[in-house]
Amino acid sequence: MSQQGYVATPPYSQSQPGIGLSAPHYGHYGDPSHAASLPGVMKPPGPLGAAAPGAMLPPLPPGPQQFGQNGAHASSAPGPPPHRFAGPAPVGNVASAYQPSAQPSYPSPMSTPPVVQLGGQLGAMQLDSHGPGAGPTGPAAFQGPPLPAAPSILQPGPRVLPPPPTALNGPGAPPLAAGAAFPPQAAGYGPQMGAPASYPGGLPAGPARMAGPQPPKQLDPDAVPSPIQVIESDRAARGGQVYATNTRGQVPPLVTTDCVIQDQGHASPRYIRCTTYCFPSSSDLAKQAQVPLAAVLQPFATPPADETPLYLVNHGENGPVRCNRCKAYMCPFMQFIEGGRRYQCGFCNCVNDVPTFYFQHLDHLGRRLDHYEKPELSLGSYEYVATLDYCRKNKPPNPPAFIFMINVSYSNIKSGLVKLICEELKTLLEQLPREEQEETSAVRVGFITYHTVLHFFNVKSNLAQPQMMVVTDVGEVFVPLLDGLLVSYQESQSVIHNLLDQIPGMFADSSESEAVFAPVVQAGMEALKAADCPGKLFIFHSSLPTAEAPGKLKNRDDKRLLNTDKEKVLFQPQTSVYESLAKDCVAHGCSVTLFLFPSQYVDVASLGLVPLLTGGTLYKYSNFQSTAHTRRPRVSMFKARPPSGRVVVLGCQHGSQTASDLMHVDSQQFLHDLRGDIEKKIGFDAIMRVRTSTGFRATDFFGGVFMNNTTDVEMAALDCDKAVTVEFKHDDRLSEDSGALIQCAVLYTTVGGQRRLRIHNLGLSCSSQLADLYKSCETDALVNFFAKSAFKAVLHQPVKVIREILVNQTAHMLACYRKNCASPSAASQDAVIGTVQLASSAALLANGRMTRNLKRREDLPKEEDTQLSSLLLILPDSMKILPVYMNSLLKSCVLLGRPDTPTDERAFQRQLVMTMGVADSQLFFYPQLLPIHTLDVKSTALPAAIRCSESRLSEGGVFLLANGLNMFLWLGVSSPPELIQGIFNVPSLAHVNTDMTQLPEVGSPHSQQLRMLMGIVQRKRPYSMKLTIVKQREQPEAAFRQLLVEDRGLHGGSSYVDFLCCVHKEICQLLS
Ligand SMILES: [Zn+2]
Repeated sequence: MSQQGYVATPPYSQSQPGIGLSAPHYGHYGDPSHAASLPGVMKPPGPLGAAAPGAMLPPLPPGPQQFGQNGAHASSAPGPPPHRFAGPAPVGNVASAYQPSAQPSYPSPMSTPPVVQLGGQLGAMQLDSHGPGAGPTGPAAFQGPPLPAAPSILQPGPRVLPPPPTALNGPGAPPLAAGAAFPPQAAGYGPQMGAPASYPGGLPAGPARMAGPQPPKQLDPDAVPSPIQVIESDRAARGGQVYATNTRGQVPPLVTTDCVIQDQGHASPRYIRCTTYCFPSSSDLAKQAQVPLAAVLQPFATPPADETPLYLVNHGENGPVRCNRCKAYMCPFMQFIEGGRRYQCGFCNCVNDVPTFYFQHLDHLGRRLDHYEKPELSLGSYEYVATLDYCRKNKPPNPPAFIFMINVSYSNIKSGLVKLICEELKTLLEQLPREEQEETSAVRVGFITYHTVLHFFNVKSNLAQPQMMVVTDVGEVFVPLLDGLLVSYQESQSVIHNLLDQIPGMFADSSESEAVFAPVVQAGMEALKAADCPGKLFIFHSSLPTAEAPGKLKNRDDKRLLNTDKEKVLFQPQTSVYESLAKDCVAHGCSVTLFLFPSQYVDVASLGLVPLLTGGTLYKYSNFQSTAHTRRPRVSMFKARPPSGRVVVLGCQHGSQTASDLMHVDSQQFLHDLRGDIEKKIGFDAIMRVRTSTGFRATDFFGGVFMNNTTDVEMAALDCDKAVTVEFKHDDRLSEDSGALIQCAVLYTTVGGQRRLRIHNLGLSCSSQLADLYKSCETDALVNFFAKSAFKAVLHQPVKVIREILVNQTAHMLACYRKNCASPSAASQDAVIGTVQLASSAALLANGRMTRNLKRREDLPKEEDTQLSSLLLILPDSMKILPVYMNSLLKSCVLLGRPDTPTDERAFQRQLVMTMGVADSQLFFYPQLLPIHTLDVKSTALPAAIRCSESRLSEGGVFLLANGLNMFLWLGVSSPPELIQGIFNVPSLAHVNTDMTQLPEVGSPHSQQLRMLMGIVQRKRPYSMKLTIVKQREQPEAAFRQLLVEDRGLHGGSSYVDFLCCVHKEICQLLS
């Protein structure tokens, strides 16, 4: 694709990113030498392992200096920095603008637990239990909730008795969340819930250290940093306010905080979020910290209605003003000089002449007089009307087309799926996207059906009846008609409705059970090509394409590959056909959205590559079953429940259901997704370019992207939900004065057929102090980056190695902070500011002072305090909940395969995460858990969320859990009957039908309230979440419990507390 004037030669050399795994970056994926230094493996025992025996350590309350000072994150966050250019003055109502320096510190002191002890931390490390030195393990040992662990399985560790829980609740400890814990013994899960919690090939362990029987050790989960508290305190400090983007390097509110964002010169965090807002000034410093420097770009994110939409700048034939050298677009980072005749580029420093049409005088501050009149001078984000130079063949583009391609094989007809789609399209086509000022949509539509051959339909408006043309040569697909395939819905409405009415009957007698796939995509692309327009294919498909045709696939699912070096093959496409097909699609602006209705393995890793690389979306519904079973019996029907992927065999208990009943299990979810996909904001035929100021550059891109060269990200389409994560590397020193500037430009075609440029600018700070880097980190963006880089790496690396790298890097980042920013030599005074501390009681015990009754840390002699300090786990305030998120990532089904997780489900989730924005990845890795039984039916406020742990549930409670893909309504065995009555209109829990995927409309206050709340949780999420009703102690509960990410995984994966201990151990080793 050539876009004159857009593709610029970079002023510096670039590395070669691609869709495959790039060269080893910070994480050293693919570096074999790494294996030799796996954390925790083969290393001598660290200080904790050498702990002397001892008794219980008394509570160790924090010194007063540890409170009230942890606002460093915000209070000393880069205030108005020494701007090279005067920042834009406030626009609009500035009185209400959020002024970071004047606001309460972030997060509030409340959110920082005090010094606490990792009582028996190693002993609680269940992740070590599979090691050779581990003590007895067995299913029985896992029947209780993971925390506190059952005595029988607890492995030895530092010989510390568990302190009473209250002892660990220091003054600053968080209060118990709503829905207080119920006693461990209450959770009598059957054996099916209690598979051994080994962590196959999982986290590194030090088995030798674990030998010897010891009493159980406990660490109060309330004493470790709580994601809920971090979220709530940010919400309390910044929620509902106006956040003005007027300061370079300013850390925005969390994605979970609702606020009004006012563009005052930097792009809204809705469009760009960074892992840190202060880059280290040198690459040495960056290497030392190993904090990834990355930005998550979501260029088409939908701002809420109360925020200003992007302004459109039109310079007519002149086109956008750009730097002559680096081709950066005019933006607030350009400095006007010489009375306004020239300007210096903020990215490459080149001095350019101001085009005559663009000249304007400067005021006494050196600012153009029209500064506030031009969005491109005063705003972080805006759009340009592109000139013909930016169009293919220098011609204005045609409006895009949507082609609906329906698999009409036997099972889809019988299940009623085809009829459902056709019926729905009749109303959905009324909602085709259009330009805001237009009354009708410019998008044209077309229809193709297929199984082993393709049927094209002529729906030209002057026809009385639609006409069908069959293409049987699927080896070389051609488009049999040009005129009448793609039409205006308004003009051809009656012919289209006629067709949609006929399709289900037309193939009713079909006995074709096989289908092709690649030729379908090919046909759609050829049709768009012939019509010379970009567009989107909506493909409704349900089976492995086994029919003889290009892209034919075999069933190569093989569970034996789990946890072997060959496991990566399961994530790779089976043939290169799909990648080259996707490449062709991108070259012609053809985006593919795939709705999959599999009843068995369909090879998502191969088929899903097409939507992933073409900017489309993959949807998967496993509950559209068909009566094909009567003809070609299958052993069982599977109801995959992502993300645990736990398979529940329907069959007997559902034997009486008809096919259409089963189909409707997922139909609402599907229809909701289809509607959302057709209506969503989208740009076509897009090229994205990320420019940076001198000293650093974009080196790697993660997401559904395709790159023909090193710098241009090509996308057949880009919609509001898709994000691309970009990693940056230094290639020189960064100047603290000028900071690090990023400009993301997306050239695209609108749904109305206009060629536009969407520009987002963001300025970050730079510092030679590591403390500044850590202060400005954003955990949610870090997790997005780590997830995407890891999920990209699974194509080439064993998941075991990737997990180890993730653990290692987590420890490394925190150890670097510990060493450089919270040094023990600085005594407690400075070292603990804005940090969370977890003192290792074992360390003190090693000092032989275990029996002394320490009341306050200040009572310690100096040298002992230093010793204690050296063993504190000190987490930077901005990263204090990084471990819980990282642990959740490590336990995701992509990185931790289990025999009961369908391979397709893992490939599906991998692809979803690759295109997620920060808000979606945050929810995915730390689901929202809401107590429903505490709902105030008179209030419209959401109940406060609680931590994702079973210990937070109660038998008498009802809880809603959502992760963006799935929603669970969990009913405790003692749920209040009036609540059950109110929600389900049945007298008791036993009467609740757990097969339902939608709540009944009961009309009671409880019902209305809950349904409204579910609507709020669903809002703004790209996927319609599937609702599963779960009764406590019944089997599907396993899928629910898998999302309680603070707990030990049912099939491996450590608990949060265990993981924290593991990381602490790593840090201690790194520091020693
Ligand atoms: Zn430049």
